[in-house]
Amino acid sequence: MKIFCIGRNYADHVKEMGSDLPEEPVVFMKPKSALVQAHTPFYYPEFTNELHYECELVVRISKNGKYIQEKHASNYYNAITVGIDFTARDIQNQLKEKGLPWEKAKSFDNSAAVGTFVDITPAMNKKNINFSLLKNKEVVQKGNTGKMIFSIDAILANISNYFSLNIGDLVFTGTPAGVGECLVGDVLEAYLEKDCLLNLEIK
Ligand code: MG
Repeated sequence: MKIFCIGRNYADHVKEMGSDLPEEPVVFMKPKSALVQAHTPFYYPEFTNELHYECELVVRISKNGKYIQEKHASNYYNAITVGIDFTARDIQNQLKEKGLPWEKAKSFDNSAAVGTFVDITPAMNKKNINFSLLKNKEVVQKGNTGKMIFSIDAILANISNYFSLNIGDLVFTGTPAGVGECLVGDVLEAYLEKDCLLNLEIK
């Protein structure tokens, strides 16, 4: 099982990070050991002093594929949820400055939290899905898939030029603006439309 993540996929988040708009999807990966399933405790990692949440829509691959055309990409996933791409922002900034890979900041144990998956139904308009993150009951992030720079289908087509996609692989599709710090004791709740699919306390 592979976990793909997309960086810089919402213009408002690109702006808050002071980055440039990407010309093609920015892709990085997390190992299987990064996965935190719903209802599992999350422990603040000891190597960082600036842990950030990034709430993202996550899709689950349901069919093996390679060189997938964008127009056929919707046949390759059948479930979505919301997840948190946990980021050690202090470490990431140090690595970015030196032009080094991001893994220590992005791909550590338990850095990929995912909620309960829901099936994609024909009635769902994948270009207009709302998701949000609450921290201690206050809304801190709001996203809509219509605001993605690269759509889910465009992302899968792009990834599949480089990596085979296999059943069960997950794709974090990027975070909207509002990323921020979380501390021990914070409770994060991620919503897909009106449904809370992920609830996690930082321990
Ligand atoms: Mg992210």
